[in-house]
Amino acid sequence: MDSATQRYRLSAHQRQLWTFPGGLHLPDEKELSNCVPLANAPLPRRLIIPLRQHIGAPAKPLVAVGDRVRKGQLIGEAQGSLSATVHASSSGTVIAIQDHAVPHVSGLNAPCILIETDGEDAWTELPPPLASRPDPTALRERIRWAGIVGLGGAAFPSSVKLTPAPGMRIRTLIVNGAECEPYISCDDRLMRDRPERILQGARLLRDLLGVEACLIAVEDNKPEAIMALRQSLGSDGDAAGIEIIAIPTLYPSGGEKQLIRILTGQEVPSGGIPTQIGIVCQNVATVAAIADAAFDGKPLISRIVTLTGRGMGQPRNLEVPIGMPFRDIIGMAGGLGAGLRQLLIGGPMMGFACDDLDMPVTKAVNCLLALSPEEAPDPGPALACIRCGNCAQVCPARLLPQQLYWHARARDLDKVRDYNLFDCIECGCCAVVCPSHIPLVQYYRFAKTECLARDQEKRQAERARQRHEAKEARLERLEQERKANLRKKKEGLADKPAPSPASNPTSAGTSPADSVAEDPKKAAIAAALKRAAEKKAALASQGLAPKNTDNLAPAQQRQVEAAEARRRELQAAEDAARPLE
Ligand code: SF4
Ligand code: SF4
Repeated sequence: MDSATQRYRLSAHQRQLWTFPGGLHLPDEKELSNCVPLANAPLPRRLIIPLRQHIGAPAKPLVAVGDRVRKGQLIGEAQGSLSATVHASSSGTVIAIQDHAVPHVSGLNAPCILIETDGEDAWTELPPPLASRPDPTALRERIRWAGIVGLGGAAFPSSVKLTPAPGMRIRTLIVNGAECEPYISCDDRLMRDRPERILQGARLLRDLLGVEACLIAVEDNKPEAIMALRQSLGSDGDAAGIEIIAIPTLYPSGGEKQLIRILTGQEVPSGGIPTQIGIVCQNVATVAAIADAAFDGKPLISRIVTLTGRGMGQPRNLEVPIGMPFRDIIGMAGGLGAGLRQLLIGGPMMGFACDDLDMPVTKAVNCLLALSPEEAPDPGPALACIRCGNCAQVCPARLLPQQLYWHARARDLDKVRDYNLFDCIECGCCAVVCPSHIPLVQYYRFAKTECLARDQEKRQAERARQRHEAKEARLERLEQERKANLRKKKEGLADKPAPSPASNPTSAGTSPADSVAEDPKKAAIAAALKRAAEKKAALASQGLAPKNTDNLAPAQQRQVEAAEARRRELQAAEDAARPLE
């Protein structure tokens, strides 16, 4: 065991802990907001509920403009396997379904359902509570219905994360209460104020996954939270397999891969996920939301948000309805100070700038950080990389940030992949220590977006190629079938036996006279032909040419002769009436 690992042994439980490479000791600044008790935000006049607050496909709206909705009502249905439902956070009327500014690093607008609240906050009918040890299928379905996603910031749909692939055995559940990023204290307040709810959720997931150990990890800069959880666990009989572990404060110990390393010494493979090594991680707030859904039938319609920074009037934590505009909750925290330097969504390390106070709180928003000029001095323009190597020393993912920077800047997407860009957790440690003030994380985010866009293009091109090849193969098959049918027909004709003499009256052995004698129709035709020939011969003997009426039937001949007589009578009458010339 190396000295660093020794250092991280905690005497309280004598549980062995490991270290991860790099990391930074940062001023935590949590006391700005974590001393004020948790409070509920008031009902806003308008809710803006994005249809996509999670990783995966956006939800499909289930309401139309003008519809009345109730609190907790399902208003957006999950689309596909990687998606999440959305619910109305209060009662009111749907006034629009349209694109609106949303808190996302891309800065793009996204489809939202806008609800004018009616002030009644009237609940819809909620599903009944589940048993304390519910059927796994029923619990997963309840989590899916409730639209629960990772509340630590990742917003990955929890029902998907809690359904490991067949044959994959999960041995350890880690409940993440590390909350390592400076300033943010929403999980700290939740652990202090509602420890029993977190433990109820942890027991549900322990039983659901059938794990051997459920480790609740909290950084040791939150002694009140650790105490509250331990007291709650001690006062309840069912503590089987559950352990509350204080871990050293070191940023970013709350990163999923870093926390797994600290608690188990195991490494998640590059490009892999924790379930591959039999571990599932869930944030404390997510676990509490799962207990709310299971035991109260409550969907995820609110979350705790930290409002902090020296640019915020009265820093605190508030339980906020999903969809409440930033402007309204900032008002609840004393408003923004006059000397505000920067407003961030998220913490100072992983957050991004907010330029629109009408953006709504989503399931992924854990903090609004208003920084004063002293907290965020202007770093000045970025300078050239001097290859000092500071960034590589602090990288918790064992990457080479300067190489990633060079290749991202040159848009060499193959190279950034070679340097494991997607193992970067965007913790920002490299950018903090960079003496050239290069905004390294922005380059990595840009390169990731480009890589994903290129992957998407490749997938589309591959699908188009497959469709084209399938069409070509089908046409070729049809042509082959057509030729085969033709060939068969020809072969069938060639193989057909010659007609027998009995079936052919003109064939040798039977005279025409014999066949006429056998068939009365033919006999009548032969007799008519014979009469015509005799008449023709008689006329010829009198020196007369046969008339074209000779071949007519007797009745027709009589009609023709009568018409001829009438014509002759008329001619005679005309001749008699004509004056002499
Ligand atoms: S810390 Fe900055 S200057 Fe130093 S190697 Fe990394 S990117 Fe270059
Ligand atoms: S942002 Fe990425 S590259 Fe930089 S230190 Fe963190 S993990 Fe490493």
